[in-house]
Order: sequence, then structure tokens, then C-alpha cells
Amino acid sequence: MHFITNRCNARCSFCFIDFDNENTFKGELSLEEISKLTKSYPKSLLNVNLTGGEPFVRKDIQEIAKLYIENTSIQSIYITTNASLPERIEKFANNIYKKYPHIEQTFQISIDDFPEKHNSVRKIKDLFDNCLKSFKVLKNLPEKINPVVSITVTHENCDNIESIYDFFVDECGIDSIKCTIVHDEGVFETPKIKKQQILDAYSKLTQKINNDIKKGKIKNYNSKIMVIFLGSSFFIFLTILDVGKYVKFKLISEVIFFIIIANLIYAIAGFFTLFGLRSKVERILYRRSR
Ligand code: SF4
Repeated sequence: MHFITNRCNARCSFCFIDFDNENTFKGELSLEEISKLTKSYPKSLLNVNLTGGEPFVRKDIQEIAKLYIENTSIQSIYITTNASLPERIEKFANNIYKKYPHIEQTFQISIDDFPEKHNSVRKIKDLFDNCLKSFKVLKNLPEKINPVVSITVTHENCDNIESIYDFFVDECGIDSIKCTIVHDEGVFETPKIKKQQILDAYSKLTQKINNDIKKGKIKNYNSKIMVIFLGSSFFIFLTILDVGKYVKFKLISEVIFFIIIANLIYAIAGFFTLFGLRSKVERILYRRSR
């Protein structure tokens, strides 16, 4: 996972980033630094998740993706976005596909509420319309390009979560949805009074999503990506366990360590997702943090 920027054009009420702190925006890696970094990655790297902040505020995001594709052996790119910049998203998807048609691209688009509320919680005019536009545009691109809507269950939407989900599926034609639960992280702390409602709403929503997936009404995000995450971690383990490389491993930077941890987290998440256990684990973790 690579946080390519902390900058974002939204100001969501549940964001973990401290936008008032000027240090937040320091230390963004340049293309030259990313080039060096990607060249140092092991060849077993199979996926990168570009995230932020809002990754598409970086105008050089295509160059960043190209560095990963050309300097490593990745097979897929996963991008989390608020979809406020649909033209940049479409251009990115098309250009990467034209040059590297073998690369799987998944775009996780965050939508959490009915149009007006979504725009007001994230503080961007017309955001909901742009999210929907991005979803539909990406859906019509070649099958290597997959959009998925991600709903974050928060204090803002927990009271209406089922009707919001029904609206997305029945009225907006969104057929690829996953969900997550808001976490106390960075500068964000969940209002205590809402914690139980959030947990209940998340349980109901995951149940609804699982049922609709079983019925074939919607699909979750691409399970092939999860297989790649699992494969990636497995090969990295092989790299560590290889005796010849073990000594070398002790000498190289923490960068590899970071990749291993990131991939393991994905692999574990992927394992639980594939076997329908992820929401249960998230609920346990959420309860423990209360
Ligand atoms: S879109 Fe994401 S990074 Fe931007 S303010 Fe909202 S939660 Fe934070």
C-alpha cells in the first residue's frame, strides 16, 4: 500500500488526516524517489494499492503507476478514490490499459450516503454525481478495469444504512459493493453515543451484501485481486525463507519489511473476505476498541 499523498479536496467529517497541521503535507515522495523505491522492491511484488488522501489530486499518478508496472512485477493496481475527479480517473484507466493491457485495475469509489448528504458530509459539491459517473464510465471499459463502491458505516449514515444501500442498488444501478466500518484513527474519534448503532448498522449491511452476493444481485470486489494478494505474500515468504537470500534480507532496508507487512494484512483480509469472515473479524475488533 502506498499513500502517495495526504492532500485531499474533500473534508469528510470522519477523516483521520489532520488537515490543520502544516506538517501533514510535507514529505510527499517525488517521482525520482518513487523510481528508486520501486527498483528496490523484490520481484515477488504482485499488487500495489495507491491511496491517500485523494490519490488523483496528484497529477503525476499515471507516472507513479508506470514506475510500479515497469520496475516491479505487479499484475494489478488497486486505487481508493473519492471520485471527485472523474476525467482524471477515466484518463488514467484508459491510458494504463492501452499501454499495459495485462494489468488489472480496480477502483474503489467511496460513497456513503444519499446524494445531498454525501456531498455535505464530504464537503464537495456534485460529488455524488461524479461518483456515479465514474462508476458507470469504468464499468463500460474493458473487463480488466473494475469499479467497486465502498460504503463506510459511520455516525453520519448508520441510522439509514439499509435504505442507502437499497438506493444504490435499486435506483442507481450499482452492482459491485463492499463496506467497511469507521475506525478511530488519526484525528478522528467516533462519537461514543453512536458506537453501538454503527456496529448494528454494519452487521445489517454486511448481512445484506452477503445475501445479495449469494443471490447474484451484486458482486463484491474482484476475488482475483485477493488471490493475487495471497500469492504475493506467499512468494514474499518464500523469498525470506530462501536461505541464500536470508543474509541479504537482514541487510536491506525497512522497505521490504513494509511490503511484507502490507501484503500480509491484505492476504489476511483477502482470506477472510474470500471466506465471508471479514465482517465478523471487523466487528470483534470494533467491539474491542470501544
Ligand atoms: S476523501 Fe478520504 S482522504 Fe479525503 S477527506 Fe475524505 S476520508 Fe479523508
